[in-house]
Amino acid sequence: MTQQKKNWQTLRGMRDLLPDTERYWRHLARSVEERAHGLGYGRIETPIVEEKSVFVRSIGEQTDIVSKEMFEVTRSENDLDDRARFSSKETQVLRPEGTAAVIRAYREHGMHAWRQPVKLWYYGPFFRAERPQKGRYRQFWQAGFETIGDPHPASDAILIYLFWLVLNDVGIRDGMIVDINSMGCKICRPKYRKALKDYYEPFKKKLSKLAKERLEKNPLRLLDTKEEDLIKLRDGAPQVIEYLCDTCRDHFTIVLESLDELGVSYNLNPLLVRGFDYYTRTTFEVRLATDERSQNAFGGGGRYDGLVELFGSRATPAVGFAMGVDRIVEEMIARKVRVPRIPRPDIYVIQLGERAKKTCLSIMAHLHEHGFKTLCNPAKDSLKTQLKLAHKAGVRYALIIGQREALDETAILKDMAEGTQEVIAQKEMVRVLEKRVGKK
Ligand code: AMP
Repeated sequence: MTQQKKNWQTLRGMRDLLPDTERYWRHLARSVEERAHGLGYGRIETPIVEEKSVFVRSIGEQTDIVSKEMFEVTRSENDLDDRARFSSKETQVLRPEGTAAVIRAYREHGMHAWRQPVKLWYYGPFFRAERPQKGRYRQFWQAGFETIGDPHPASDAILIYLFWLVLNDVGIRDGMIVDINSMGCKICRPKYRKALKDYYEPFKKKLSKLAKERLEKNPLRLLDTKEEDLIKLRDGAPQVIEYLCDTCRDHFTIVLESLDELGVSYNLNPLLVRGFDYYTRTTFEVRLATDERSQNAFGGGGRYDGLVELFGSRATPAVGFAMGVDRIVEEMIARKVRVPRIPRPDIYVIQLGERAKKTCLSIMAHLHEHGFKTLCNPAKDSLKTQLKLAHKAGVRYALIIGQREALDETAILKDMAEGTQEVIAQKEMVRVLEKRVGKK
């Protein structure tokens, strides 16, 4: 029987990230971490798998994410321990977003008893079974920030400013704009919902099945649409801003004033209704000023004053956002942003002969312990090959150990740039290299 050949590949919408883009990812991750610490955020990492209801309750059943984009996790039939714990057979999913899980954690760890506001950040992979395209993947990375327990509008602006700082750090702030809107609160939003319903009702017959369902259950979702016909209708729809109560209007005004104060450019977008049900008041998205499509945003977020209560803690105001790491990295690469290179190794240990092969291992280990980035390749035998590898790795210094050097406890130190070489004692090696590498 011939064995069939199989070419394994990444799953649809998933990708491998390779070392050629590592320096961009690293630069962004460093900026996020520094800005997070600089503004008082502490890191939280929640598990990748959660109970499905964590997201259903918070994001809302009518959203694309909940209705069709979650990856469900199948467990082994033999996992008795798991079956005992989840006797209710609660479905588990790969997390599609971060906020809901952070709020689950806020309650689980009694964070309402901590000093408020609790300021948290996270950085990790998320999963949505969306139709893949450029900048849209089924596994993507987000960096997110949440300020929990702070009702003040300036906090909304500070978070947006943090996003702005990161974009600046990674060299892509030029040409970016913050689209911003207010979605009102539980006092004024019902009036707006009714106005929207009244507006769409006469067109009901023409609407798709999904749109009809949204009209019934959550008409705001009609604004957040990719359907052509609905996009046209949307232009004449009532705007939320006209329905805001005084408190929401004041809140929004202060957010905008604070953004002016912080030097962040924004654009009022009355149609910005982000995909999740949990938003109240401020919602925002960051995009290129030249590209108005919400689906190309580099990130977004807003205030979600009702979410903590939904998870069973006492009512707690909160605001947060997530940035799309994949898209930011793609933009950095497209703009050819200069970012620090991944540091090259300093030294290549070349070994010639059986005895030297052994010695080179202890030398490499010794040099690593002293902080030198050191390579060696015991699989190679010839001097020429190893010198070539050293050259390719971009190291400045090669340490050559032959049979004689292994016996004498010496090494030949070759300066690859100058082409000079000298014999040094192995016990002097660290001292000599510290001088040389430090001098670079
Ligand atoms: P959201 O959690 O939907 O508010 O998304 C926040 C940001 O994450 C978006 O603006 C995108 O930059 C990014 N994002 C969301 N979904 C994806 C995806 N499927 N692929 C790549 N990036 C995404």
